[in-house]
Amino acid sequence: MEVVLQNLTKKFPSRDRKSRHEVIAVNDFTFQIPDGKLIGLLGPSGCGKSTTLNLISGLEKPTHGRIFFGGDDVTDLPPENRGIGLVFQNYALYPHLTVKQNILFPLQNLKGKDKLSKEAMLEKAMEAAKMVQIDELMDRKPSQLSGGQQQRVAIARALVKMPRVLLLDEPLSNLDARLRLQTREEIRRIQRETGITTIFVTHDQEEAMSISDLIVVMREGVALQIGKPQEVYDSPANLFVAKFLGTPPINLFNGRVKEGRIYIGEDPVLEIKGEEDGEVYVGVRPEGFVPDRKGALCCKLKGIEVMGRDISIVSENPSSLNPTVRAIIGTENKLNLEQEAWGEENEVRFSLIPHKVFLFDRETEERIQFEERGL
Ligand code: ATP
Repeated sequence: MEVVLQNLTKKFPSRDRKSRHEVIAVNDFTFQIPDGKLIGLLGPSGCGKSTTLNLISGLEKPTHGRIFFGGDDVTDLPPENRGIGLVFQNYALYPHLTVKQNILFPLQNLKGKDKLSKEAMLEKAMEAAKMVQIDELMDRKPSQLSGGQQQRVAIARALVKMPRVLLLDEPLSNLDARLRLQTREEIRRIQRETGITTIFVTHDQEEAMSISDLIVVMREGVALQIGKPQEVYDSPANLFVAKFLGTPPINLFNGRVKEGRIYIGEDPVLEIKGEEDGEVYVGVRPEGFVPDRKGALCCKLKGIEVMGRDISIVSENPSSLNPTVRAIIGTENKLNLEQEAWGEENEVRFSLIPHKVFLFDRETEERIQFEERGL
């Protein structure tokens, strides 16, 4: 089911009664969510993710704008008539009901022509339970389940009516790290199997990047960038998006463009063409550094961390906006590291991989596209 958000806006009166300012939780959001895709709504706390989801579900009414499900305008429909499945962070299961009764609950409320026989309901409940692999726990109460199992019951309950759209609001936040990983893979599998258009809200960029077909990065109610996770990572539209995506985060420096060169401090790190001279921010992804004795960027070595397959060089640079500069060196450059990197005592030198380097306008913080010289 394609979902279309058209100029969606939600304003709340301020929570501070003395203030007359409104909070614009969602600001003129237009987006066409393709049928059968999993969309990650991503952004820091308070950016409007949950409000967007609540508008799609019908729990909130927009101040302006319309919402369409497969061409039908659902803006004025109550949540129960929209054909949605909802899963929240706190599983919200009925504690006095068994797993089976919890999953059956939405089916028992069907009325009129949608009403199902007892056998049909049981069959559907079993099907949903199997999908999330809790069919052996059907007679337990929620208190007898782990957090991960409870969240799976909540997902089965949302799936049992085969919703047109599945809405997940931080569904993994209450799970420990390993379960989170496992459950997110399961959500992805279930979404692929069912083909239900799914919108997934999270503040965790890694989570969103790993399971989404498309991500929407939000800030202060505005969708800043929409795209495939890798494309947004590789080509951030502005400084905020560049900073928000990636672990470890992007390294940022005060820099400048002068006579066809990008400088970090006094170090000319890249040759470019056609760019005006001026002050900029230079962003370098951690994987954009190559240890190189002849490299232009000179940093002060603070330490080396071995992280399984890769190693991380932690250093300092006076132009860095982060306390340390973090370079991730893959296996292919380890040899290089042993032979090449070290200059004077405690000095480490890098050359930079051009497509891992981004320039941002100091005022607008928008990305400045540049071309390498010699290409
Ligand atoms: P979080 O990750 O912390 O849940 P979020 O990105 O989901 O954050 P929202 O809950 O959508 O953000 O809130 C967006 C903005 O709207 C915030 O500034 C919030 O304080 C405000 N807001 C949300 N609900 C209300 C409300 N009922 N009344 C007033 N302001 C609200």
